Amino acid sequence: MPSAITNYQCPACGGPLHFDAELQKLKCDYCGSVYTNEEISAYYKEKNEEAIDVNTAEAQADAAQVLQWTEEEARHMRAYSCPSCGAQLICDENTAATRCPYCDNPTIVPAQFDGALKPDYIIPFQLKKEQAVQKLREFYGGKPLLPSAFTRDNHIEEIKGIYVPFWLYDGTARAQMSYRGTRTHSHHAGDDLITVTEHYQLNREGSVRFNYVPADASSKMPDEFMDAIEPFKYDQMVPFEMSYLPGYLADKYDVSKEEDEQRADTRMKNTTIKAIRATVSGYSIVPEREQVHIRPDKVHYAFFPIWMLTTKWNDKIYMFAMNGQTGKMVGDLPIDNGKFIRYLLLITLGIMAVLFLLFFVILGY
Ligand SMILES: [Zn+2]
Ligand SMILES: [Zn+2]
Repeated sequence: MPSAITNYQCPACGGPLHFDAELQKLKCDYCGSVYTNEEISAYYKEKNEEAIDVNTAEAQADAAQVLQWTEEEARHMRAYSCPSCGAQLICDENTAATRCPYCDNPTIVPAQFDGALKPDYIIPFQLKKEQAVQKLREFYGGKPLLPSAFTRDNHIEEIKGIYVPFWLYDGTARAQMSYRGTRTHSHHAGDDLITVTEHYQLNREGSVRFNYVPADASSKMPDEFMDAIEPFKYDQMVPFEMSYLPGYLADKYDVSKEEDEQRADTRMKNTTIKAIRATVSGYSIVPEREQVHIRPDKVHYAFFPIWMLTTKWNDKIYMFAMNGQTGKMVGDLPIDNGKFIRYLLLITLGIMAVLFLLFFVILGY
């Protein structure tokens, strides 16, 4: 029976394949064989087509059975059986690429990339896990108050490479602006200081063309984190192929392009206002009217690479995210109050010891 998922395995030895960021090719974990994306795409084409035909309703019913939930409770879950080891994989409904926890084979759900769900583009990972781990250690380094839950080696090793879905918006902004501008200059005439203020009415009109304005399409990813690790460089963006995914996690979008449109519009508007204001230099200005109208155009669907680690501490989730293309990172960290008090105590004791010694020195002992 065909499975709803495909394991990407080495054609030579059957070992798990992963997309190697350094080689920009697929590499076997076992025998080290290297394949191009074209070779692996061709090899798995038929298997992926079979997998797409498998009913997802069945995967949903299986999830309910495995979890022993009602079908309503299990509505957002899917169960797939791993073609390599037969284990049941329980994923949420948006999972598109993962790893089988039992046999470690990369698993792809081809139906998540079928028809309207097929991404247009992908930026393949450019930075390897070791580089992400090093960046994370630097981020944690020199912070003695950080709880050890964050810095444990086996926790840091859990950092995961995720392809996050993004919408990329094209559009044209038409702007009409007017400003009240003043220019002031002073000169001396005999004993008098004469100040002249010139008043201007400044009008600006223009249009700005935008391509690929990004907004992440995953409800799980905090928007401010995704914004913070921008920009992504589009010169490495290529047409989407499933063969870039093995070895990484991926979710299909769960925020629609209509829901995300406002975010992109606001960015286009703000950029346009800033660009046009910059042309009104040499005056002090008061805006009278700043009207920007966005004419939407194409929307593209793309996958961008992100290294991510979440740490649960005192019932709160802290996140570290790094752009898998450029290495730009963002993270939030707590302070361990217990550690803080011990730290303070240590400093106080240190100062007291010094004072104590000084006291004896002054007394001449
Ligand atoms: Zn192999
Ligand atoms: Zn398996």
